[in-house]
Amino acid sequence: MQNPLLESFDLAPFSKIKNEHFKPAFLQAIAEARAEIAAITNSKEPANFENTIEALEFSGQQLDRVSSVFFNLNSAETNHEMQKIAQEVSPLLSEFSNDITLNEDLFLRIKTVYGQREKLDLNTEQQTLLEKKYKSFSRNGANLDEDSKKRLREIDTELAKLKLKFGENVLAETNNYELHLTDEQELEGLPDGAKEAAAQLAKSKNKQGWVITLDYPSYIPFMKYAKNRDLRKELSLAFGSKGFKGNEFDNQEQVLEIAKLRYERANLLGYDTHAHFVLEERMAETPEKVHKFLGELLEKAKPAADREFKQMADFAKDLDGITTFQKWDSAYYGEKLKQRLFSLDDEKLKPYFKLENVIEGVFKVAEKLFDLTFKEVFDVDTYHKDVKTYQVHDMNKNPVAFFYADFHPRKGKRGGAWMTSFKPQYHKDGKNVRPHIANVCNFTPSTDTKPSLLTFNEVTTLFHEFGHALHGMLANTSYPSLSGTSVYWDFVELPSQILENWCYEKEALELFAKHYETGETIPMELIDKIKASATFQEGMQTLRQLSFGLLDMSWHGLNPTQITDVKEHESKAFEGTMLYPDTSETCMSTAFAHIFQGGYSSGYYSYKWAEVLDADAFAYFKENGIFNKEIANKFKEHVLSKGGTENPMELYKRFRGSAPNIKALLERSGLLQAS
Ligand SMILES: [Zn+2]
Repeated sequence: MQNPLLESFDLAPFSKIKNEHFKPAFLQAIAEARAEIAAITNSKEPANFENTIEALEFSGQQLDRVSSVFFNLNSAETNHEMQKIAQEVSPLLSEFSNDITLNEDLFLRIKTVYGQREKLDLNTEQQTLLEKKYKSFSRNGANLDEDSKKRLREIDTELAKLKLKFGENVLAETNNYELHLTDEQELEGLPDGAKEAAAQLAKSKNKQGWVITLDYPSYIPFMKYAKNRDLRKELSLAFGSKGFKGNEFDNQEQVLEIAKLRYERANLLGYDTHAHFVLEERMAETPEKVHKFLGELLEKAKPAADREFKQMADFAKDLDGITTFQKWDSAYYGEKLKQRLFSLDDEKLKPYFKLENVIEGVFKVAEKLFDLTFKEVFDVDTYHKDVKTYQVHDMNKNPVAFFYADFHPRKGKRGGAWMTSFKPQYHKDGKNVRPHIANVCNFTPSTDTKPSLLTFNEVTTLFHEFGHALHGMLANTSYPSLSGTSVYWDFVELPSQILENWCYEKEALELFAKHYETGETIPMELIDKIKASATFQEGMQTLRQLSFGLLDMSWHGLNPTQITDVKEHESKAFEGTMLYPDTSETCMSTAFAHIFQGGYSSGYYSYKWAEVLDADAFAYFKENGIFNKEIANKFKEHVLSKGGTENPMELYKRFRGSAPNIKALLERSGLLQAS
């Protein structure tokens, strides 16, 4: 059978690819990758950098290509059959990657080269590649004796089960709850859209009236707008007690077990704690540095948060005679206060952000900063008619990248917004292979009478994802696994978040924020309001993020073997960040999926870390002009083009001239005001 996925191609031949091509392509590509690995281990030559490390790096390229086409489509344009294929191939792929990590002959060769690294005269990127390859084995136990290896596998299997169970319990607790309302009075305050959605939900469950659930799209509007305080309390307690009711879905056992097994695993591998293990491959490096970082921010955020809390509590007291301000009052009075202070709503802003104008705007920003030009092309194969395609060139008309932009929601696309690539950048055989990058979003579509008009949040999202895209497009490294966004976790949001800053600048907005009917440029007064409202209750928001980061570190940065009471442990971790009275029936840890199910363990701090980086980096632009070519060049040269070829702290210092400083973030967030 002819299989377009296995033929050589540059731009993916989407229209020729059918569902039935995927599975055979995966099977053949995996077989090829295995043969390439076997060729490395069977080599009679002594191991060296080229025949082992580079050979491993460039093995499995066919598989990478098939995987990226398949998984990108499975996110952006999926169907039932593709989801079934995903379930079939996922175990094959993990089996393949496990076989590599457990391949002792391969590890021996890598270890040999690693042992000679001082004498090999490798450049920085090669050193990084060698280190990365070696660590991918050693961090999975390749250096352990047989007994320890066995124990490591047991722990990994056990952890996988516990995490799955944790997630299933959270899901069950979310799904098992509903607030069923039959008296319209009880929905007082809710906007029409939220009411309609609640009625729709009731209908889908064959019920009269309205249903509110613990899913965010249902939960958040109710907490923000519902006037009925008792109902807000009921919903808030239901939300906060997920996995903490002592029923069959209770997660306390899972939390304790996961923390202890992670600790044991880290010890086996020679690390003090799980956080030490994780942070070894982060810009932050050690738990001590994370604690210092969180502590510094806490010191500044706490007084501001206390002030904001008092302001909101006073406001609630004046308005409704609330004497003890509670968690379930926060979103409601926060929204009311925000309306009073700013009276800014999306409908006022949207006419200035027609999608086509915003795209043109982000391209202009990229042109002014990095000399890139974007030429839309119409004769390229795509996976859906809505996907726009662009050739990207530099000022000398050299091709830089190919860019796919897929902006609107449809059936078959998952929610959210992301950047991905169909082909990485790398150098091979004297050629600089340029990348194929995509942005996929779910922006408000056009209607019969109106073009696609974006909310301000959608505008910043577009800039954010385009920042990731630039990181991919401007990559200039030798090895694909070190290229573009393949950087440490707490560094990857710098290029995306920094670009959002241009959305708040007059000089940038004037390029594109023009009324779609009148052509009038967005009034400065609106821009000022956007800026002011963006830092509304920033102290409290920061405190909340810090409390989550501290909770994460309390589970993973210390020896957890003596912890027996989840709630008690958590209360201690929250001590310095509490604003609201504690409620004994709620617990955060038992539903904290980020750290107990997802990949954020010992990494929650990185949200704030990335903000510090982007604020500090953008301050450098502001000092010199937001379109200053010299600064932009430095950013391109030292950050965007370098990918993960070097420690990000070194890259950052080379760009900025010094390590990141939290001052710029504090200034931007208004946390530097005198208390
Ligand atoms: Zn991002």
